[in-house]
Amino acid sequence: MRLLISGGAGFLGSHLCDYYHQRGWNVVCVDNLLTGSRANIAHLAGHDRFYFLPMRAEDVHPESVPDPHERLDLVLHFASAASPEHYLEWPIETLSVGSDGTRRMLELAQRHRATFVMASTSEIYGDPEVHPQTESYWGHVNSIGPRSCYDEAKRFAEAITMAFHRSHRVDTRIVRIFNTYGPRMQAGDGRVIPNFITQALAGQPITVYGSGEQTRSFCFYQDLVAGIAALAEKGGPEPVNIGNPNEFTMLELARLVIEMTESASTLEFCPLPQDDPRRRRPDITRAKQLLGWEPRISLREGLQPTIAWFSSQHPQAVEAR
Ligand code: UDP
Repeated sequence: MRLLISGGAGFLGSHLCDYYHQRGWNVVCVDNLLTGSRANIAHLAGHDRFYFLPMRAEDVHPESVPDPHERLDLVLHFASAASPEHYLEWPIETLSVGSDGTRRMLELAQRHRATFVMASTSEIYGDPEVHPQTESYWGHVNSIGPRSCYDEAKRFAEAITMAFHRSHRVDTRIVRIFNTYGPRMQAGDGRVIPNFITQALAGQPITVYGSGEQTRSFCFYQDLVAGIAALAEKGGPEPVNIGNPNEFTMLELARLVIEMTESASTLEFCPLPQDDPRRRRPDITRAKQLLGWEPRISLREGLQPTIAWFSSQHPQAVEAR
């Protein structure tokens, strides 16, 4: 079996490369390293079942793929900046990979008669008026706000995925990913878990945006990867939420990280970013029924290896604590 994954050197993409590679698949990893990192795939480099194509998803031609006449069974489209700080820095690139990139990947899947999985996001629900979010909710999104480059790119990507399914009968999947964390996240990517852990390890103030009463529901990457693999194998074209429904305020998260790192850090309240969703929690009924999947790892259990990973990346931060 052979798969091509765009964004394969990113946080989730590289874990997906590992998942399939460990199961004997041939893995073609596409990444332009804008927000991905060679370090995430260094352990796979040079392996005969792993190929790295350093390019944008938008630039992949059928001939770019090694052995272009050999079939691809699966195309996973995971390329995109994903943290608010990164997509605010690269809004055009984010729109480009969500639109042109998704189209290229769909054309490749069509040509190979491969199953296509598009990495969508809870962001397509915007600042939701329905809680928890079911897949039938259409969302509450500001189409011209700072986050729109990401939200609308992903909404377009869902639309073109459905169009390829309806018009060209491509076997498509849409996974709506809720906040996910774990080893290989970047310390500087601006998301709340890397920020809080690196701040706590360094004994610096924990930057809580707004009052800290906004909520998120955090999924450990291993649960997410298992959900995506199940969706690729036995899902259908309708979108599926994959995430952990246990909901926390950012204040609760900050206190948990301080406790688990035994840090002396204090809280520093900072302005809330524009259009920051107030609440987010997936309704995962569809994933349970369709895939027999549900997350198994609690936030406390998942934070342990995540904190250990950040400590190993930044030993000086631990010493400074
Ligand atoms: N946040 C925070 N402090 C930080 C980074 C983020 O309080 O240092 C908040 C942010 O305002 C949001 C939540 O944490 O309400 C999750 O932010 P993140 O960037 O991780 O992901 P999002 O769910 O917004 O895409």
